[in-house]
Amino acid sequence: MMPPGARACWVCGGERLSLRKPANYRGALDSGAFAITDTHYGVTAAIYECADCGFLQCAELDDVTHFYEGVEDEAYEAGRAQRRLQLRRVLENVRRHVPGGRLLDIGAASGILVAEAQQMGFRAEGVEPSRWLQRKAVERGLPVHLGTFPNPSCEGPFDVITLVDVIEHVTAPRCLLRAARSALAPHGIVAVVTPDVRSLAARIMRWHWWHFRVAHVGYFDRRTLERAARRSGFVPLAFERPGWFFSGGYLWDRAWKVLGLAGPRAPAVLERVTIPLNLHDSLLAILRPTGETE
Ligand SMILES: [Zn+2]
Repeated sequence: MMPPGARACWVCGGERLSLRKPANYRGALDSGAFAITDTHYGVTAAIYECADCGFLQCAELDDVTHFYEGVEDEAYEAGRAQRRLQLRRVLENVRRHVPGGRLLDIGAASGILVAEAQQMGFRAEGVEPSRWLQRKAVERGLPVHLGTFPNPSCEGPFDVITLVDVIEHVTAPRCLLRAARSALAPHGIVAVVTPDVRSLAARIMRWHWWHFRVAHVGYFDRRTLERAARRSGFVPLAFERPGWFFSGGYLWDRAWKVLGLAGPRAPAVLERVTIPLNLHDSLLAILRPTGETE
């Protein structure tokens, strides 16, 4: 059952947690393990499952946010063009619910979403804990504040708050959702993108699934995401399956990685192509605030 010192379920508050996967990272945790493009798939802290709601969480970890302050990620910057396409799709989804206004991107990295949102007519800004990534954004003239959320430099109300691949990185997801809710305009929405641990890809790959990595400390599926949202004062308006875009070279490298082999360099022609890929193993939830929280 729950280890001494560990918390209750981060989604439902239940206290019956069972160990599902022992920790298998070596040495002490540091910022390197928290890079966005970390490829040590299957390497995680100890993962516990909640008997009440099924949520999987690294229950022994305390707040890991400080690890992001020192993250430097050249590979993320190199994939900017593909990320831009992916985030544009997310924003097209958002725009069906809220056509414009003030937008805040939490975990904005180097500001790719902020730049896209500006192009689509939003008054967009972001907040990012990594000094290196935040500086990249500022160098591009993008309004991305340094720090975590909530943050005095980005005060609401916002019409849209985006949390793209963020909620799986925090040890208190309901606190983050509630903070987002209090910064939201009454008719605003929060868009959450997160891996789906009960997707077909995750079931097939089991503990080798690419989203099992040190930086991911909470593993949602549609049910637990909805439950966390409802307990934080939201009602889901829509769930989608956001797709991704990759360079051919990236997919080549990752395919060898998944096979556990050191493959040859990608053929040059692959570096020039962008491949849309929807593995249906990510969730996009559009959330609207309700009157009350649980
Ligand atoms: Zn639970």
